[in-house]
Amino acid sequence: MEILLNDTLVAWLDAHAEVLDAETGCGEDLLQMLAGAGLLRIGVPEECGGSGGTTSSAIAVVAQLAGHSLSAAFVFWAQRAVIECLLKSPNGHLASGLLPRLMDGRLAGAPGLSNAMRALTGFDRLQIHRTPEGLAGVVPWATNLHPEGVVIAVAADAAGGHPAVYAIACDAQGVAIHPHADLAGLRGTRTGSVRLDRVAAADHWLVDQDARSFLPGLRPAFVALQCGWGLGLARACLRSARGAIGASPSILLPEIAQLEQALAAYWCTLSDRIDGDGFSGRTADLFAARLEMVGLALRASELELQALGSRAYSRSSGQAFARRRREVAFLPIVTPSMVQLKTELARLGQ
Ligand SMILES: Cc1cc2nc3c(=O)[nH]c(=O)nc-3n(C[C@H](O)[C@H](O)[C@H](O)COP(=O)(O)OP(=O)(O)OC[C@H]3O[C@@H](n4cnc5c(N)ncnc54)[C@H](O)[C@@H]3O)c2cc1C
Repeated sequence: MEILLNDTLVAWLDAHAEVLDAETGCGEDLLQMLAGAGLLRIGVPEECGGSGGTTSSAIAVVAQLAGHSLSAAFVFWAQRAVIECLLKSPNGHLASGLLPRLMDGRLAGAPGLSNAMRALTGFDRLQIHRTPEGLAGVVPWATNLHPEGVVIAVAADAAGGHPAVYAIACDAQGVAIHPHADLAGLRGTRTGSVRLDRVAAADHWLVDQDARSFLPGLRPAFVALQCGWGLGLARACLRSARGAIGASPSILLPEIAQLEQALAAYWCTLSDRIDGDGFSGRTADLFAARLEMVGLALRASELELQALGSRAYSRSSGQAFARRRREVAFLPIVTPSMVQLKTELARLGQ
């Protein structure tokens, strides 16, 4: 995997990883750092203002960030997911207006799509409705929420028509952001809910008028980009495990080597598939890959714990371990959650 993060960014991430996880303060700087390093253009076609490359190059960015800070990888994913929505939007006017600002970090993008992604397979009900007075309801979760950013959300037509995908300006009349102040980690990611009260739903802000065809088209990139979280975290856990063992003989070494090989194989398969046919028509394979990512990260975290022993249980020497443990604990719950993936795979007969 080509190294995509520059030394300045790596030093900043390592200096801020704990703060990004534990405090709400430096989320603003984070987006600027990611944009300043040119990361938000990676995997975006040159004709759209990006630096070219494939979806797997953007996944590689997610993985490399996750090796230093999952908060950073998560914010990058959020911004990149919004960019992906606009790249896939038939509304060229909206895309050309927002994409340059999203790629250079002047505008923050928050994908509030969990509710819709869950509703897509009958796992949930849409919580926003389009009424004659405008959009109303709640986006229960969105990350990378800035007062002047945009949120992408799906609204059901109260009159029974197709649900549609909207970009919603956070400073529009009727939009209220409520930060989730009680998170156990990832606190620098600017995560919260968004309440919509009769927000004007002009055609200009329409990402796609049919969420039921748009979301399945978005899903492969949306989910494959997430796979970078566990990949990067697992690598960091194994690096830490090897560092803790040092030159001593250890019963854990064959397990670590085996997991390193599994991660390398996982990356080869994932990048081939997403850059090849993009998991087209193979939703079960996509979900299986997403589920496998969580399993790999959980196993790597276990090995890190065993290798560190009591050093993991010290607040000073175990600080990075404890953060990674909290970060890993996020992977089974974020949409598509492990429970959702297992439910879907069972339904698809896998
Ligand atoms: C830090 C953080 C950041 C987030 N950022 C974003 C974001 O940027 N964008 C976004 O859209 N979302 C975001 N989310 C939301 C996230 O992706 C999940 O949608 C959310 O955490 C799911 O909530 P829950 O587990 O409480 O779901 P619940 O619906 O309360 O589920 C509780 C449990 O029941 C299971 N369950 C639920 N429904 C069913 C069912 N029908 N059948 C079987 N089992 C079921 C769940 O898997 C889970 O185990 C974020 C969440 C967190 C914690």
